[in-house]
Amino acid sequence: MFSFVYSDRIPPGGKFYYLVPETDVFIESYQSKAALETLVRQHYAVNKREPPANLMALMEDYMCRSMPEGTCKGSDDGRPVTTRPLTFFKVVEKLEVFFRGRPALITTEEAEKRSAICFSCDQNWPGMCVSCNGLKQLAFRMARGRKVVKEAWMGVCRKVGMPLNAALFVKDPSAFGNLEAYPQHCWVRKGTK
Ligand code: SF4
Repeated sequence: MFSFVYSDRIPPGGKFYYLVPETDVFIESYQSKAALETLVRQHYAVNKREPPANLMALMEDYMCRSMPEGTCKGSDDGRPVTTRPLTFFKVVEKLEVFFRGRPALITTEEAEKRSAICFSCDQNWPGMCVSCNGLKQLAFRMARGRKVVKEAWMGVCRKVGMPLNAALFVKDPSAFGNLEAYPQHCWVRKGTK
């Protein structure tokens, strides 16, 4: 199992989070690990389930598996180091490689319509991007300074694999890969139409 090297510090990304395996519900807290534990215990209680005795250790282990190297100590116990297909470094790499080609961008007004769709989409994952200033600043730079009103709610899109604060502005989203893989409501499927 993994645990934080410095258990009293706010981890990269500025938040604490846990995916409750029994219900597949993702819970997060910007306050503290203890606040997250309270939320998770409440979730177990509401679902009439008994939380595991080592809940705090499991939560740390879960977070550590998607944290940058050096944040945690321990061993992977033969399980994947990340519990998610996206890691911080993969996202940064994809962002930099994609925008190196200086793709054409749309205006902020046009991106606001896309942002409204992402706001309520379950593929918009706030776990990595929303409070991580380094990643956000990089995304703003790639979008050449453009920002949507709801930028604070724009996380990393699990499908695009990049922060929405940059991806929203790409004029031709067909470059994001297999359009059929995107949800029906997604603006990416519509291409430049
Ligand atoms: S799948 Fe589409 S609508 Fe959903 S967050 Fe990603 S880009 Fe936005």
